Amino acid sequence: MANRQALEQLAEWVKGSSYTVLLTGAGMSTESGIPDFRSQNGLWKNFDPAYVSSVDALEDHYHLFHEFYSLRLQDVETRFPHQGYEVLSRLQVQGLIHAIATQNVDGFHLRSGSQNVYELHGSLRKIYCHTCSQEHSIEAFKDGTACSCGGKLRPSIVLFGEMLPEHIWQQAITAIEQSDLVVVIGTSLQVYPVNQLPAMTKGKTVLINKEPTALDHLFDLSIYSSAKDSLLEVENLLVR
Ligand SMILES: [Zn+2]
Repeated sequence: MANRQALEQLAEWVKGSSYTVLLTGAGMSTESGIPDFRSQNGLWKNFDPAYVSSVDALEDHYHLFHEFYSLRLQDVETRFPHQGYEVLSRLQVQGLIHAIATQNVDGFHLRSGSQNVYELHGSLRKIYCHTCSQEHSIEAFKDGTACSCGGKLRPSIVLFGEMLPEHIWQQAITAIEQSDLVVVIGTSLQVYPVNQLPAMTKGKTVLINKEPTALDHLFDLSIYSSAKDSLLEVENLLVR
C-alpha cells in the first residue's frame, strides 16, 4: 500500500479508536538529532557503548560513565523535540491518543506536554544516588558531586545489567491491553521484551518506520516514512 493511502487508513483508525497507545523508539529521537548510541556499532572513545552504559561501568569506571552521560544530557538539553512530538501532545488533548510508551530516555514526550507517558527505559533527566536512591539535580550530576552518603550519582535509566522498571511496564501493558489501536513509531522492535508489546492489543497495529523491519508482517499496516512527516500528515488528515 502506498504511504499516502496507508496514512489515510491510519487516520481513519485513529478516529474510530476509543483507546490508542503509541509506542516510540530511537527513530523518533534521531529525527530531533539525538544520536542512537545503543544501536551504534562504532566505539565511543575506544569503548563499546554497551559497556559504557552498564552497571559495571558505573561501579568500576565512574569517570568514563560520568563523561558519557554528561555528554548525553548535554545533547538532550541542546536539542528540541521535533514537530511530531507536538502533534502527539495535540492529538492527546483532543482525546485521539491516550497513552505513550517509549523506549527513549530523552524525556522529549514529557517536555512536549504529553500525558500518560511510560518511559520503559527510564529518563536521563532524573538523577539519583546509586547507593541510597536519594534524588539529586542534573547540575549536581554534571558537577561530579557525590551524594552525602558517598554514593555515585546516576541518571534514572535502565543500564545494561539492570532490571526493567516493572511498575512502568505493567502500566504500559495495561494501557495496551485495553487499546483498540497501537501505533509503533521509529523502532525495528528487535529487542525483547519490548517487541512483545504490540501483540498485546486486541485491536489494530500500525508500524511507522523509515525502513522495513523483520516483523512487518505482524502489523495490520506498515508505513515507511519519517516519524515527523507521518505524524504531521496524519494530523492534517484528522482535522479535515
Ligand atoms: Zn546516597
